[in-house]
Amino acid sequence: TYVIAQPCVDVLDKACIEECPVDCIYEGDRMLYIHPDECVDCGACEPVCPVEAIYYEDDVPDEWKDYTKANADFFEEL
Ligand code: SF4
Repeated sequence: TYVIAQPCVDVLDKACIEECPVDCIYEGDRMLYIHPDECVDCGACEPVCPVEAIYYEDDVPDEWKDYTKANADFFEEL
């Protein structure tokens, strides 16, 4: 799955939402989240993010590793 990290916080540009072919990017209060079970790993969202907040799960920078769990947890709480 792809993961949205810290740069999205308080930005919520939403360019990624337009690109996602399976509509698996959802809006939270302060950032957007990718549903880990719905993402088909197409990678379309990554290059359109103006703040480079989106990473493939294996490529999330160390300082933002917690965001992988944060993306999954967001949907647990729904
Ligand atoms: Fe959607 Fe593809 Fe991005 Fe996954 S990688 S969130 S399916 S655009």
